[in-house]
Amino acid sequence: MSIETVKMEGVAKKYVVMSGKGGVGKSTVAVNLATSLALAGKKVGLLDVDIHGPSVPTMLGLSDARLETEGEKLLPATVPGIPGLTVMSVGFLLDGDDSPVIWRGPMKNGVIKQFLEDVKWGELDALIVDCPPGTGDEPLSVIQLLGDADGAIVVTTPQGVAAVDVSKSINFCKQLSLKVHGIVENMSGFVCPECGKVTYVFKKDGGRKLAEKYGVSFLGAIPLDPSIGDSGDAGKPYVAQFQASPVSALYAEIAKGL
Ligand code: ADP
Repeated sequence: MSIETVKMEGVAKKYVVMSGKGGVGKSTVAVNLATSLALAGKKVGLLDVDIHGPSVPTMLGLSDARLETEGEKLLPATVPGIPGLTVMSVGFLLDGDDSPVIWRGPMKNGVIKQFLEDVKWGELDALIVDCPPGTGDEPLSVIQLLGDADGAIVVTTPQGVAAVDVSKSINFCKQLSLKVHGIVENMSGFVCPECGKVTYVFKKDGGRKLAEKYGVSFLGAIPLDPSIGDSGDAGKPYVAQFQASPVSALYAEIAKGL
């Protein structure tokens, strides 16, 4: 199989955010990580290739954004209040939030290629790509098209059933010679806003154990916190709204490691 790659000379680092299954908070992690980097003064591109469920526009308050062009190039959207962050999402192509996308593999590959090649990303310290869950067409296209991505960030939840899916993601990266930068355990324990007691809703330490098992870095555990979900719904990234919180400090730490 011939593997085409896209040259992105102005982009210093490229990371792919993946998860074994949906709903574990992959997009939330991608958005907050990208925002945290931007808040630290970096130039960051966030590319959402979750073709069947692009949630990045909602999470950044860009639901009404539509594609704009400059000459032959597509312009990424800017995010009010977060200078340094530019965004491209397949959601900008769609008419409404409720229209399903029915595209076969080659078409998905074509759109992803365009989003890498024909978008005026400019000089970036980092490009973060939010992939759909699993090991299908989209992550395969992204990893092959980038060719030289710096690593995958695998997001999981702590419960045992997530382990099989994460193992698949890790083996997928291995087969494509992509380094796993590390695992983020999301929804790791609920901190009661009244008494501060932590309840481990989905058990504890699943991500850390997986990281040990596969010899990859454990990047950190992010708790289940209603304000993280609310921030996503409100289109204002958590790390921008609660800059002094321990979770924002953890995101900043992970961002530093990139
Ligand atoms: P995925 O990209 O894996 O499908 P999302 O990032 O869309 O998952 O997250 C699924 C839902 O869970 C969203 O409503 C999001 O706001 C919420 N969520 C994600 N992480 C957390 C968290 N740590 N605490 C509370 N809610 C969260």
